[in-house]
Amino acid sequence: MRFAIQSKGDETSNQIQEQIKRYLTGFELVYDEEEPDIVISVGGDGTLLYAFQRYVHRLDETAFVGVHTGHLGFYADWTPEEVEKLVIHIAKTPFHIVDYPLLEVTVRFNDDKKEKRYLALNECTVKSMEGSLVMDVVIKGETFETFRGDGLCISTPSGSTAYNKALSGAIIHPSLPSIQLAEMASINNRVFRTVGSPLILPQHHTCMLRPVNDVNFDVTIDHLFLVHKDVKSIQCRVAHEKVRFARFRPFPFWKRVKESFISD
Ligand code: NAP
Repeated sequence: MRFAIQSKGDETSNQIQEQIKRYLTGFELVYDEEEPDIVISVGGDGTLLYAFQRYVHRLDETAFVGVHTGHLGFYADWTPEEVEKLVIHIAKTPFHIVDYPLLEVTVRFNDDKKEKRYLALNECTVKSMEGSLVMDVVIKGETFETFRGDGLCISTPSGSTAYNKALSGAIIHPSLPSIQLAEMASINNRVFRTVGSPLILPQHHTCMLRPVNDVNFDVTIDHLFLVHKDVKSIQCRVAHEKVRFARFRPFPFWKRVKESFISD
């Protein structure tokens, strides 16, 4: 089996990275950053997002597992003290795969420029480059509302505990193939009106964002900040692809939610 390790880059994470590398090569696994079967991320959820985007072109072949060197993460749920146990699991046991839904984002442009397609593990956010964001929100081909405000956040179920949660979005169990559209400070008065509640869309519903005036946007895909100019539309839906996590022990989602936000 081939493996790669993505470290957050701080001293502790780098030390753990070296330790895991030593152990796994000792078990005769091959270190291969180009075509790994498993990627071990060492750091936090942010590090796993980085690893995901790095290997997003080979999701069918690569599974992920995360060690946290800070607080318990949603994607990084192994502690540094458990590293030896984890390494033995990776080397000796065929791992069980749990897959989570992803968000597909397609940006189309007014000129003939080729469309851009992204996959997000957490979310995509859209903001105007200047002033309020004004966009028509079209759901399944029907105009639903004209949004006016700071921005829009479209998240995956596993990303629902990240930015989406700060926007008072719902926490969605990752077994539900869905996306969630949450508003960032919408302007609501007698002239402008939005629904005001987060919307959860199933797999077969597409959400299309269409510019009303301004056509230049700041778009984030997970931790990536991207500027898109002369945009015709931004299409969001549940992706066909899924992310695969290697599971060696049960750690139910709601337990992770409780331990992350309430108490352990
Ligand atoms: P960052 O600003 O350095 O850290 C964002 C925080 O979000 C970190 O504490 C990270 O955990 C945590 N996080 C990431 N994914 C999560 C998930 N699925 N569930 C719960 N918490 C999660 O940025 P970053 O490390 O590059 O991560 C980018 C992410 O930051 C974006 O995808 C977005 O979700 C999030 N973000 C949140 C807000 C907000 O809540 N107001 C604003 C902007 C961006 P770790 O410490 O374990 O890495």
